[in-house]
Amino acid sequence: MTWLLGVIGDPVSHSLSPVIHNMWIREHDLDASYEALRVERGHLGDALDTLTKREALGFNVTLPHKEAALELAADASDVARRIGAANTLIRREEGGWRAENTDAPGFMRSLTDAGIDVAGKRVTLLGAGGSARAVAITLTDLRADLIIANRTLERAETLVKETGITAEVVSLEQGLADAGTSALVVNTLSLGHSGGTLNLPEGQDQFFYDISYGRAAAGLAAEARAKNWRPMDGLAMLVSQAAYSFEHWFGILPETEAVLAHCRKLVEATS
Ligand code: NDP
Repeated sequence: MTWLLGVIGDPVSHSLSPVIHNMWIREHDLDASYEALRVERGHLGDALDTLTKREALGFNVTLPHKEAALELAADASDVARRIGAANTLIRREEGGWRAENTDAPGFMRSLTDAGIDVAGKRVTLLGAGGSARAVAITLTDLRADLIIANRTLERAETLVKETGITAEVVSLEQGLADAGTSALVVNTLSLGHSGGTLNLPEGQDQFFYDISYGRAAAGLAAEARAKNWRPMDGLAMLVSQAAYSFEHWFGILPETEAVLAHCRKLVEATS
């Protein structure tokens, strides 16, 4: 019996998740297959009903289904509830799905692997969208002195209220103007996808961590480098969150180094 796994989203054809998970499936000689499954907004429940009839072990869930995945799940981890969204579904023996969110531990591990310690330090988070929640919770858990800057102030205020974290909320302009005094800037704004730029101030060799990767991160990384920041992209976070999902399904925490190097090559070839 071959277990079915996959990433459910729309769009989803660009996702690196099948490459990542199928490498680990082969490495561990597992009888499983991981596919990209395009499901339109509003149809996650129907898709899960259909997939349950196949030998489905679990799924990653991406835009636009992360909130719906949490709502449809029979139970959920504390971190998924705090974030208000799930990126991982695990089939339960008693039926239904357990919702997890591995973006937060994936982001945390990427910081640790890069040797970034934020405890007691000022950190600016740009953005207040879906992924900013996992980032904000992690930075708060790591005891960073957090400033959240977003174009829509109300969205950042809602994030703080709903996640129960302590953070200062400022406008995007204000956050950027003051960013030079932060030990780390984490960018979760999606504007890199449309070629947007940031008006970053001059840095002092601090990290500018953009959780996007590939073409979406390249322009802002060049801008950051030119202004004396140390750019870092979101590929390590992507591979780490995948590793934690894999552990939820198979009970094995896989090695990330070779997979990350392979993804880096794929991304560089298409950037
Ligand atoms: P959302 O759509 O939920 O949030 C988008 C954010 O970008 C909001 O803060 C929004 O501000 C802001 N924004 C968008 N356009 C502009 C603009 N022109 N000017 C200023 N602000 C803008 O996206 P996600 O949080 O889900 O994803 C954000 C990024 O993170 C994406 O690039 C995605 O690829 C990446 N990502 C990476 C992951 C990884 O594992 N490495 C995991 C998940 C996401 P406003 O609130 O004002 O609209």
